[in-house]
Amino acid sequence: MALSGIEIYKLLPKTNCKDCEFPTCLAFAMKLATKQVELSACPHVSEESQSLLAASSEPPIRLVSLKSDGYEVKAGNEVVLFRHEKTFYNMPGLFIRVTDEMTSEQIQKKLKPAEEYLVNYVGIDLAVDGYAIESTSNDPTKFKSAVESVRSVSKKPIVLICKDPKVIRAGLDVLEGESPLIYAADESNWEEMGEIAKNANAPLVVSSPNIDSIAEITEKLKDFGVLNLVLDPANRDLSTSLMQFTQIRRLAIKKDFRPLGYPVIAFPCHAPSPETESIQAAQAITKYAGFIVLETFSPEALYALLVLRQNIYTDPQKPIQVQPGIYEINDPKPEDPVLVTTNFSITYFSVANEVEGSGQPAWLLVSEAEGMSVLTAWAAGNFDAERIAKDVKRFEIADKVTNKQIVLPGHVSVLSGELEEELPDWDVRVGPREAVDLPAFLKQAL
Ligand code: SF4
Repeated sequence: MALSGIEIYKLLPKTNCKDCEFPTCLAFAMKLATKQVELSACPHVSEESQSLLAASSEPPIRLVSLKSDGYEVKAGNEVVLFRHEKTFYNMPGLFIRVTDEMTSEQIQKKLKPAEEYLVNYVGIDLAVDGYAIESTSNDPTKFKSAVESVRSVSKKPIVLICKDPKVIRAGLDVLEGESPLIYAADESNWEEMGEIAKNANAPLVVSSPNIDSIAEITEKLKDFGVLNLVLDPANRDLSTSLMQFTQIRRLAIKKDFRPLGYPVIAFPCHAPSPETESIQAAQAITKYAGFIVLETFSPEALYALLVLRQNIYTDPQKPIQVQPGIYEINDPKPEDPVLVTTNFSITYFSVANEVEGSGQPAWLLVSEAEGMSVLTAWAAGNFDAERIAKDVKRFEIADKVTNKQIVLPGHVSVLSGELEEELPDWDVRVGPREAVDLPAFLKQAL
């Protein structure tokens, strides 16, 4: 049961000691009531108050994680309806589906390229998160051998799909010590599936086209001792699934309705074409899936989904940053120039990619600018001659180069005079405004 800010305040020490980095206990209580801070930020809460507050400060959507040998996919723990209100925390896992009517060779042929797929986006490695195995045969032996075939290719987390408890048990036999996601409990089988999930310590999907019915089953399973649940509002068309996913999220976040306070799973794999599948998956990423099962593995479609996911799940208040430092591009020699940019990842990659593509060797000084792009950082006072000069010294760049030629981004040409004063024995040049013009500049102007 959620407590109001005043109710929370009454349980706090009321000393206004500021250790939580808020000026008063009341200010902290107000933030805690809207779940914008963690209770652990106040180290002085009594044990008794802690247990009362812990329940009310629990995230409205339970954290559920799938585990396998060395891998974990987490979903839930979300506290807002819209990303800009705070941030989304756990990005939805993307799983590629196979069935137990495929031969072992067919499974391996489909999954090997997916398993090998790894792409770097602004310094972050993106890949498939796991695999879903569906029993279309309803045969425990075939299901077990399909799970074995998947395990011969990958150790990543697994979703086991079948509503027959016998078949699920056969699949679980192969996955001892793991926490796969079991699909699914419904009105007819929830007790038996709940027993299996409890014994295997694995999360369980509750499936029904009716949200009221999902809420009833989750309550029964909770009383039965199964706490890690995932919801499947089993309507697959775009508009109904959008409406139901949004209803679930709203009820969980805005009304603190605990029976629906779990991550949701989406099945774009049932779409009639790969194009529709991508559209459904994109919708599920933005609103509000925790796990997504895909039929098609194609690098071009997957890349778009992974990048979309990355963008939705970054903290809007924290730009993606690159580590400040001196980077070598195209194996530079001491006589090559030093280019300067900021540590906003997109700025860094724009510059680094253009220079790399030009084939011209250069040193790239990535200056600490609180993750802002060149102009924004300059306007905010986070990218000036003094900082650049400090970074030149901090990263001992003078020891690496002989020509001491340093190139400022064209957008901050205004800094050139000050930088000459800061670095009197350097030749300060002004480069182009846009990264795309760097190759020509490197060829002609230096
Ligand atoms: S740390 Fe705790 S006691 Fe201190 S001001 Fe914050 S809420 Fe109050």
